[in-house]
Amino acid sequence: MIINVNKISDKGYSLNDTIDIDNAQLLEEGSFFLEELDFQVRLKRQDRRIQAQGSIQTAISLVCVRCLEQFELKIHSRFDIILFPKEMIETRSTALGEEELEYIFFENDQIDLEKILVEQVNLFVPFKPVCKADCKGICPGCGANLNRGACPCDQAKNEIKFLFEKVKR
Ligand SMILES: [Zn+2]
Ligand SMILES: [Zn+2]
Repeated sequence: MIINVNKISDKGYSLNDTIDIDNAQLLEEGSFFLEELDFQVRLKRQDRRIQAQGSIQTAISLVCVRCLEQFELKIHSRFDIILFPKEMIETRSTALGEEELEYIFFENDQIDLEKILVEQVNLFVPFKPVCKADCKGICPGCGANLNRGACPCDQAKNEIKFLFEKVKR
């Protein structure tokens, strides 16, 4: 989805659409889209820069780092970013600070909107995602999902404890 910068007037340019994004665009391993992506975006000129304000809605499937089960993450996020023409970054790069280098640029007067939207999705995904805050994870002994109850190892441990206590007496 390419938008030509010349289409954007001083009053701005609005877009409201639903797109299907390739799962390969998701950075998190094992994740995939459960829904198409709905978005609203308003592009406005600021001299040679473009301001992009909007929101995205979708849902993706993630793998919990603790129990290794898949779970759904609803994404509803707003963004307000500045897009710079690439030429501007190249000529000014030496004068820019570290954090300023993390902006999005566009080339040849063309804005790749899908790339921007995908980046917003990836930013929303938490580092080390968990299915729920109190996920109990898997048993290191047998690999059972402890959210579904105690595993045989737990029983075995209790039996050993019981025998041990018997010996003590
Ligand atoms: Zn989990
Ligand atoms: Zn176990």
